[in-house]
Amino acid sequence: MATEPVPTVTLNNGVVMPQIGFGVYQIPDSDQCERAVRDALEVGYRSLDTAQVYRNEAAVGAAMAASGLPREEIFVTTKVWISNAGEERASSSIEGSLRRLRSDYIDLLLVHQPFGDYYGTYRAMERALSEGKVRAIGVSNFFPGRFVDLAEHVEIPPAVNQMETHVFNQQKANRPWYSKYGTALESWGPLAEGKNNLFTNETLAAVGAKYGKTAAQVALRYLVQRDIIIIPKSVHRERMEENLDILSFKLNVADMEAIAALDGGVSLFGDHENPEFAAMLSGLTADAD
Ligand code: NAD
Repeated sequence: MATEPVPTVTLNNGVVMPQIGFGVYQIPDSDQCERAVRDALEVGYRSLDTAQVYRNEAAVGAAMAASGLPREEIFVTTKVWISNAGEERASSSIEGSLRRLRSDYIDLLLVHQPFGDYYGTYRAMERALSEGKVRAIGVSNFFPGRFVDLAEHVEIPPAVNQMETHVFNQQKANRPWYSKYGTALESWGPLAEGKNNLFTNETLAAVGAKYGKTAAQVALRYLVQRDIIIIPKSVHRERMEENLDILSFKLNVADMEAIAALDGGVSLFGDHENPEFAAMLSGLTADAD
């Protein structure tokens, strides 16, 4: 189990966020999600990533309460879904998220997808920030065009953009656009959900063999050394430990270059500009108020 303290990232509004967190996508069953989050907190994670559309904010809230940890020791992120877009709906959905999370504040609140009235959503989030209901606000899945447009036309620049980011899609070309506004890059799918046989990738395995680490640990360590925030997910306690145990070794320049070369620069999860994909996402509904 990791003994080194988890590094932190200072966001563009001064809020400090753990660089490694625990994601709970696709853990819809309440008992399983609560158990997983309790395990993650016991293992040492202090940052949790949920969303209204995951329909598991309540389980995350229950696990936080049951952990006995002071609220301020946990950093919790949630996201406003497309079906709650627009100023009024987003506002009441934020109240719903607070209630389900059993908290009077959210550490980081993101616009989940750049669809629907996300400008209205962002205004509601700016208001929640000014009211102390949220400590930082940002976006997710905003490719540079929409990201820059939003960042230029809102009061508060996004603190974070949570994007698909892993060794096979490293966001190299897009990242300067986010950095321009001081926006931190947070990776979703840091293990590419195992796509492209990440867990047996020869380059990652060979690098890992030198340090006694798995391909998964090398893939995560690479992102950490690139100053990217990561939120790997697993429901298995030993994998939660494995994914956190990446602080006691350092990849050298040659390792970093070898892993940089794995980048294909394209999504493994679907094209956001594809109208069928947009229609599919827009058809999903989330927990509301
Ligand atoms: P991930 O890349 O973290 O992969 C998770 C999967 O990899 C697990 O389900 C498990 O099957 C496997 N795994 C995990 N650790 C392993 C290990 N050490 N060895 C072998 N297999 C292992 O994928 P993810 O869950 O999609 O992404 C992480 C988090 O990012 C999510 O839980 C969620 O919080 C967030 N997310 C956000 C968005 C978004 O649109 N903003 C989209 C997807 C995910």
